[in-house]
Amino acid sequence: MDYRRFFEDAIDQLHAEKRYRVFANLERIVGKFPRALWRDAGNIREITVWCSNDYLGMGQHPDVIKAMHDASSRMGSGAGGTRNISGNNHPLVELEIELADLHQKEAGLVFTSGFVSNEASISTIARLLPNCLIFSDELNHASMIEGVRRSGAEKKIFRHNDLAHLEELLKAAGKERAKLIVFESVYSMDGDIAAIAAIADLAEEYNAMTYIDEVHAVGMYGNRGGGITDREGLSHRIDIIEGTLAKAFGTLGGYIAGPRSVIDAVRSYAPGFIFTTALPPVIAAAATQSIRHLKVSQEERRRHQCQAQLTKDVLAQANLPVMKSETHIIPIHVGDPELCKKASDRLLDLHGIYIQPINYPTVPRGTERLRITPTPFHSNELVVELKDALVEVWTALGIPFSKESAPSIENSDRVVTLAISKAGG
Ligand SMILES: *Cc1c(COP(=O)(O)O)cnc(C)c1O
Repeated sequence: MDYRRFFEDAIDQLHAEKRYRVFANLERIVGKFPRALWRDAGNIREITVWCSNDYLGMGQHPDVIKAMHDASSRMGSGAGGTRNISGNNHPLVELEIELADLHQKEAGLVFTSGFVSNEASISTIARLLPNCLIFSDELNHASMIEGVRRSGAEKKIFRHNDLAHLEELLKAAGKERAKLIVFESVYSMDGDIAAIAAIADLAEEYNAMTYIDEVHAVGMYGNRGGGITDREGLSHRIDIIEGTLAKAFGTLGGYIAGPRSVIDAVRSYAPGFIFTTALPPVIAAAATQSIRHLKVSQEERRRHQCQAQLTKDVLAQANLPVMKSETHIIPIHVGDPELCKKASDRLLDLHGIYIQPINYPTVPRGTERLRITPTPFHSNELVVELKDALVEVWTALGIPFSKESAPSIENSDRVVTLAISKAGG
């Protein structure tokens, strides 16, 4: 048997489908966010990143960097082992207290990533519940799907954000059976938001447990950055809140917060927690600093929303096919994997703008897109520069503009002025 052949064939298939992925070789520059150095074939260029999930630039916040420096000079680099074998490191204990408080829950538990937190928690919770039936939104993230699979429990997929469908499935399951509803607050590729209160109502009526992924909302929504559940005063109505420390908090790691008994059970039974080395104290200390900052500071959130709205308005005004989004996530429809990759390449080569193409299986085929994530640090000038670059690329590659009225570039400058004056800055 020619083993290598199988792997070469697997890669060839991706090439044939035009969705072979290439990662840009980037180096972020502290103090110049969202600028980065791009190394390509021996050249180094400074470019602008428009697709980072460091949504608030906290990965470069001086207080966060300082917390990391301080912790490393006091405690060194690694954690030194799994928590079962080598004990807790103190910054991790502090971090879990901070997270429980952030979501107004009894306890929190930190994992090495958001992916692991979903996989380990969902699978363990559903495995411990007898004959559990899982209800999972069809657009749930891959890490949640892994958790559902690994649990071995029966599952029902409900149509995205479709409450009538969810209710129909809940009703069919009956009140007695153990049930777990898993869903996200902000869906990361479309930027839409779940009807959390209505799902909580259904869960109450049909006696189901609820598990929400707030990865794309923590730090960014709510008065204290506790996510959409915080913003809508619903934390107490959802059993388990899951989040990441790697996106708006700018560090690394994932977590769940919830009732003490559930958290303790996951801590005690989940292989994905037990058999892996704990997060290093430097990361835990930096994450805690970032959370503490965003619990009190509104400035990053205010400016984030302001620049996201401005970007949407300016791109829509230029008739770029901005997909409807209720959040800071701005998808621009391309609808073809090869064009999507070409658009991304041209933006980088010609305009020094980096936006990674989003292709299948991250999104369904035919909905390939560029996913733009403005931050508080994307200035008005950068927004206009982005619009001009996208218009050039769309025109050069013949990608369809949106069908509304004729494009008008001068108008977009008026929109910029309007949006800026509306936002008061
Ligand atoms: C990124 C992401 C995760 C995983 O979080 P990491 O900390 O990056 O592992 C989980 N859920 C959703 C919806 C995500 O987008």
